[in-house]
Amino acid sequence: MKRTFKVATIFNIPIEINYSWFIIVGLVIFTLASGYFPATNPGLLPVAYLLMAIISALLLFASLLAHELAHSLVAEKHDLPIHGITLFVFGGVAQLEKEPATPAVEFKMAAAGPAMSFFLAVVFFSLTQTFFSLHFPAYVVSIVNYLFIINLVVGIFNLFPGFPLDGGRLLRAAIWHFTRDLKRATGIASAFGKIFAYLLIAYGLFNLFMGVVISGIWLIFIGFFLQEAADTSYRQVVMKKLLGGVRVAHLMTKNVVTVPANLPLEKLLDDYFFRLRFTSFPVVEDDTLLGLVTIHSVKEYQQDNWQQFTVRQVMSPITTGIVINEEASVIEALAKMSASGFGRLLVVKENKLIGILSQRDIMRLFEFKSEVSR
Ligand SMILES: [Zn+2]
Repeated sequence: MKRTFKVATIFNIPIEINYSWFIIVGLVIFTLASGYFPATNPGLLPVAYLLMAIISALLLFASLLAHELAHSLVAEKHDLPIHGITLFVFGGVAQLEKEPATPAVEFKMAAAGPAMSFFLAVVFFSLTQTFFSLHFPAYVVSIVNYLFIINLVVGIFNLFPGFPLDGGRLLRAAIWHFTRDLKRATGIASAFGKIFAYLLIAYGLFNLFMGVVISGIWLIFIGFFLQEAADTSYRQVVMKKLLGGVRVAHLMTKNVVTVPANLPLEKLLDDYFFRLRFTSFPVVEDDTLLGLVTIHSVKEYQQDNWQQFTVRQVMSPITTGIVINEEASVIEALAKMSASGFGRLLVVKENKLIGILSQRDIMRLFEFKSEVSR
C-alpha cells in the first residue's frame, strides 16, 4: 500500500505527506487546545483554543517544511537530486537519490536544517517581543511565542547525534571524514540513533506510569519512529553501496511468459496460474504490452463466469509505476516497487516488453553480495 500522498511542489521538489502525519497533526492540535493554550491564556472559550491550536499547527508544519527545504536546496546545489520531501513528526525526510559524495557536502547539508530552525526561532522571538510591546491581543502573542519555542526545540532535537537525525548526519560526516568508510560511519551513527530512540521510549513509559499521559505518548511515538528510521536508513546505505552500480538489464528475467488478451479466464487459470504458479502475467497483443493480470483480479469473478470473460476484461492497464527502463538502477527499481506496493516491474523498451524484474531477484543478489563482502 502507498503510505504517502503528494500535496504540493515547491522549487520543483514534490512535497509528500505520510498518513501517520494526520495522527501527529491531531495530537499536536489536541495537546495545544487542551493543555498548552488554556495554561498560557486562561479564560477563553474552548473554540478559541481550538482555533489557536489549528493556526499554530499549520505554522508549525510550515516551519518543518522550511527546515526540510533548507536541507534540499543545499543538496541540490551539490548535485544531489531530491526525489521529494516526506513530512513526518519533528521534521521530515528529504529523499536523496544517492548519498552525498563527500563528508563536507554531507556536513553542510545536515547543518542547513537546524540552521533554518534556529533562524525561524529568532524571527518568531523578535515577533513575540514586537507584538507584545505593540499591545497585540494576547492570543496572537501566544501563538508566535509558541512558534519561537517549538522551532528552538526542533533545532535542538535534530542536533542529537543519532542517525538519521541531522546531528547524527553531522556525526556520520565526521566519522566518515576520519575513517573514509561510509558504511562503518553510518553503522556507528545509527547505533547512536537507536540508543537515543530507546531512551525516549523508556522516558515516555516512565511518564505514562507517572500519569503524564500526553507527553508520554508523544515520547514513545517519536522513539518508535526514530528507531525504525535508524534501521531503514542504515539498510539503505548498505544497499546503495552493494547494489549501486547494478542496472535493471543485468538482473531482469528475459524470457517472460505472457498471456494473450483474448484468452478465457478458465484457460488463464489452468494453463498459466495453476501450472506456472506466478502471481501475475503481463498481457501482450501483437508484440505490444497491454496490461497485467494478477491472480487477485481473477478472484473477483465467480467460477460460472470463467468461460465467458477474457483476460482483457480483468487485466489492469499499464501505469508508469509498474514499468521501468532497462538502463535504470536496481535501487530505483526497489524504490518504485515499494511505492507501488507491487513486488515486480515490467522492463519496457519502446512499448515492448523485454523483461521482468522481481523484488526477490534484487534481494537475492543483495544477500549474495553481503555474504561475500562480510
Ligand atoms: Zn533536518
